[in-house]
Parts: sequence; structure tokens; C-alpha cells
Amino acid sequence: MEPGRVEVAEDWPEPVPGPREVVVRMRGVGLCGSDLDVYHGRRKTPVLPWLMGHEGGGDIVAVGRGVTDRRVGQRVAIEPNYCCLDCPSCRAGRSSACSRRVVVGMDHPGLLAERVAVPARFTWPVPADWVDETLSCVEPVAVARSAVRRSRVEPGDRCLVVGAGSQGLFLCQALLAAGAAPVVVEPHPGRLALALRMGAAPAGDTPDETFRFVFEAAGAAGAVQTAIARAGPGATVTLVGLSPTPLPLTASQLVRRQLTLRGSLIYDHPADFPDTIAALARGELDPAQVVQPGFTPERAGEAFAGALQVPGKAWLDLSPWWRSPNGPAEDAP
Ligand SMILES: [Zn+2]
Ligand SMILES: [Zn+2]
Repeated sequence: MEPGRVEVAEDWPEPVPGPREVVVRMRGVGLCGSDLDVYHGRRKTPVLPWLMGHEGGGDIVAVGRGVTDRRVGQRVAIEPNYCCLDCPSCRAGRSSACSRRVVVGMDHPGLLAERVAVPARFTWPVPADWVDETLSCVEPVAVARSAVRRSRVEPGDRCLVVGAGSQGLFLCQALLAAGAAPVVVEPHPGRLALALRMGAAPAGDTPDETFRFVFEAAGAAGAVQTAIARAGPGATVTLVGLSPTPLPLTASQLVRRQLTLRGSLIYDHPADFPDTIAALARGELDPAQVVQPGFTPERAGEAFAGALQVPGKAWLDLSPWWRSPNGPAEDAP
């Protein structure tokens, strides 16, 4: 991919599993805001054209030397941030702040391929019957659940979620799963409708209400402004979106209102991914309520170009690459 241009490459090298790696045959890959930043030329990649994709999973088809706890045939979700596990942040349990973190799809080639080699410890087994769109959602759901975990929301708390793009929708689901009550600000009527259908309340009904917990999931300057404006005294404002704009807040406002501002970046290894998979397996969150119909690889360009307009999560259904021409080949790899 290059800014404004998506193509299926036919001559990509076949991955070989190195020591402690597995090769995963990909089934589904989600698109998110950071992918679209690359597509729209707002975020640089090491080279162009570039292999995108960081939200997805599939089936293990080969294991490298030294892999003892993964096997061929296992369905896995991929944790696409390879932390070093050795720096002070990693040792303190905050691998999201790892200084040597490798970000798949951004500074390491991505997952939008037939097969990819992945360090075994960053693949997480999921139930064998999981559908491809669920595999595409594990990563963004882990982002949402980690934000809720870090904010220390408790059951019964009314929480404002600013922005109901796919990350905001998953935040609503994660809050509902935590027993909290999400209230949503979203200008796009289709996205708002999706959030309400999942059980969130519209913030427009109580325009003067302030909140003890606020989540910003749009990454737009106006959304950050709304998030801070509607934070009540002593509130915790958790920012998930990546906006380049300075915060609309003076130090004295922060002190007088006794706000806690918290940035929440991705998730921490090793706990957040398997926790998220367990929560999805228990049915606490339902990605089917959030995903759009999948785009086939040939329609990848459309998926990238249109993802911002359509409510819900866009994802690429890679099954045409591995289904046999004579019908669905759920063959053991
Ligand atoms: Zn993402
Ligand atoms: Zn580290």
C-alpha cells in the first residue's frame, strides 16, 4: 500500500518460521484509524509500498525451532506489539511503554497477507470455532478493555464516551461488560444509533450533565475539548485517541477542577490479550454488533477509502485466499 493506493501483491516472499516463531495463515484483519492515517498520508511507514494490518488472526500452519506451546492447526489472535520484555517498562508490567516495542503494520511489515511469521509468544490461542470477524476484533477490544481497566471505573459508574467510531463502540461494550453505564457523544447518526443499540445512552438527552469518568476515543481536537468540558469535579479523563493538538486546558483549570488526565496506549503483555480472549469467549462483549460486512481482498481499496464514512468496524475477510474453489475448505492446514 501507498498513500491513496491499495494493491494486492502477487510476488510476496513466503514466510519461513524462524526460531521461536510460528507461521499463521491469516483469516481476518481489521482496519483502524492508524491504518487510515497511513492511507491518507498522515503517518509514515519505513518504506513504500508497505504491507499494512495489525488487527487479526488465523490458523498456525508451521512452527519454528524451539516452539513447544503452540501447534499446527491452532487458531490464534495476534498481539501486534512485540515488546522486549527486558527494559524497565516491560519489567514493571507496562510493556505498552516499552522503548524497543516493534509495532506490526507500522514499523514492521503487517498482517494483511496470506501467511505471516510471528513470534510464538505473541500469538494467543482462541476457541477453534471463532469466526473471522471476531479474530479481527481482538486487538481493538484489548485496547478498549485496557483503557477501562486503567481508568479504574467501577460497576454503576456513568461514563461519557466521546466518539463512537469502532474504538468508541468497543469502549461502550467494555464499559457495559464492567457493569458501568456508557453515555455517548457522536455527531454521525449511524454510529450513534449503533452505540444506542448496544445499550449506551445519548449524551444529548442530558446536555448539562458532567461525568466522573470520561473517555475520548475520536482523536480529534473537538472531541478532546468535549471530553474535558464534560468532566466533573475530580473526574478522570482517559484519552485513547491520538490527537496532535495541544490540550485545551490550563494548569490552573486542571488543579481547580482536580482532574486526572490519563493517556491509555494499547495494552500490556502478557495479561491483557488472554484476558480479552477470555472475556470474548464468555460473551461479555459481542464484536458482531460492531463489525461491518467483511471486504474481500479485491475490495481492499474500497475498505480503506470508505472506512471513515460507514458506521462500525471495517475488516478484510481473507477467506477467498484459502478456501478451495470447490467450496469451503475448512481443511486442517
Ligand atoms: Zn488498530
Ligand atoms: Zn521493553
